[in-house]
Amino acid sequence: MAIATAILAAGIFAFDAFSTFEIAVAALYIVVLLMALRFTNVTGIILIALGCIGLTILGYLIGHANDPNEGAMLRGAVSALAIAIAAVLCVQIRMSDARLRRSEERYRNIFQGTSVAIWEQDFTEAANACAPILQQGIPRLRDYLTANEGFLKHCLFLVRTLDANDAAKQLIGDLDQKNVQQSWDAALEPETLVAFREILLAFLAGESSFTIEAAIRAVNGELRTTIVTATFPTDRSRSVLINSLDVTAKIAAEQALQQSIAELTRVSRIATLGALTASIGHEVNQPLAAVVTNAEAALRWLSRERPDLGETTACLKEVVQEGRRAGGIIHRLRSLAVKGELARGPVDVNAIVTQVLAMVQRDLAQHQISAVLDLTPDLPTIAGDEVQLQQVLMNLVNNAVHAMKATATKELRVWSAFDATRGILVSVRDSGSGIPDDHMQRLFAPFFTTKAEGMGIGLSISRSIIESHHGRIWAERNESGGTTFHFMIPTATAEGSGNLA
Ligand code: ADP
Repeated sequence: MAIATAILAAGIFAFDAFSTFEIAVAALYIVVLLMALRFTNVTGIILIALGCIGLTILGYLIGHANDPNEGAMLRGAVSALAIAIAAVLCVQIRMSDARLRRSEERYRNIFQGTSVAIWEQDFTEAANACAPILQQGIPRLRDYLTANEGFLKHCLFLVRTLDANDAAKQLIGDLDQKNVQQSWDAALEPETLVAFREILLAFLAGESSFTIEAAIRAVNGELRTTIVTATFPTDRSRSVLINSLDVTAKIAAEQALQQSIAELTRVSRIATLGALTASIGHEVNQPLAAVVTNAEAALRWLSRERPDLGETTACLKEVVQEGRRAGGIIHRLRSLAVKGELARGPVDVNAIVTQVLAMVQRDLAQHQISAVLDLTPDLPTIAGDEVQLQQVLMNLVNNAVHAMKATATKELRVWSAFDATRGILVSVRDSGSGIPDDHMQRLFAPFFTTKAEGMGIGLSISRSIIESHHGRIWAERNESGGTTFHFMIPTATAEGSGNLA
């Protein structure tokens, strides 16, 4: 190209210097500049333009050295000016070209460098294939695509991939246009097709973008979970941009986290059990002692000369009743220890409060704590896990007892309330040591504890339990000292009446 340009420049020079035509031949140097534009940079253009102006002057001097001619001089000047203007324009073109190339390079670097898989695709043919059914409306087309997997696949194979970045190629390999079907074969999972159907429908419905989670089989055979976002052009003739973010690792991490939380919940329950053992032992001992006493009495009534069957029956009824009571206590103990799936039965919150306070009765008595129960009657039930909610309440009450160990006033108040829009509120108020400001923020953080023997997971577990019931839990400082913990859980049917403190 450079040689052709040089030959052209030489030709123009010869023609300009030695021909007798009275025209501005030198203006043809503009063509030289335009040709130079293809292979040189800004400096090159300036140098070539200066060279062309030089040749124009030299051509004039050779051609008109003997007869200086005003007309020829004017033509030479006009040519030189035209070359200069053309040079300025060429420099501008070259500079904006460079800018464009830089921005394209930047775009290319982002396109290739990102870990998000990106495809640029043309949906035109797939849209054309769907057009006859689309006339009957999107719902009809959705039904059709759902019922005819073969046609849906056909549409997928009609999508032309114009470009794909490295991440996309690493994910499902090259979508070879000549053999699309084979290229898709290994990657296609039923969920991939469903995702494609939804993306195609969104495109045909004229939406601007669409996001869906999709499973896809990667080239290495692994099943990957991806979040696919399709961005549709406003102008149908332009390409669709599909990007897919691999979230397999994130989902695996979330599952592991859920498992750890479940495990931690169980550990915390076992810890709660430790604290409970003393009072449970006492509770079980009481009915057992009653069983023994009643059974002995029954034996005595029977061993009389004339056995008193009425008294014996009464004693045996007591035995049965006390036996059941002991069984119930053991059952509660077991259900707290057993690891199980979250139950979603109807739960009577007042019953839970009563049960938990019965369990800690002995602890309260031992620390001379007076307990007041203020339950709003006829609360609606909530959908939840009775054992987990028992665990929360047990934790709040144990903390309250602990906080009141060293204080002069020892008053525990537990109440329930109901609000038709917000749900059921349970509050545990103590007159204990209270919580300093800087601790308030960290209370529910895992492993925050101020107790020498504490694990610091009770409140964080309680919060995750309450949140899994779509509720919330919070703490409040009492004006008169001590702390009140509240938790609120929405009811399944938010009706009824009551007062929220
Ligand atoms: P742990 O009881 O093992 O310390 P928790 O998560 O149950 O774990 O409690 C974390 C911390 O919150 C406690 O160590 C204590 O400092 C504070 N706390 C909880 N409840 C109360 C309360 N009623 N009064 C004062 N401080 C409390």
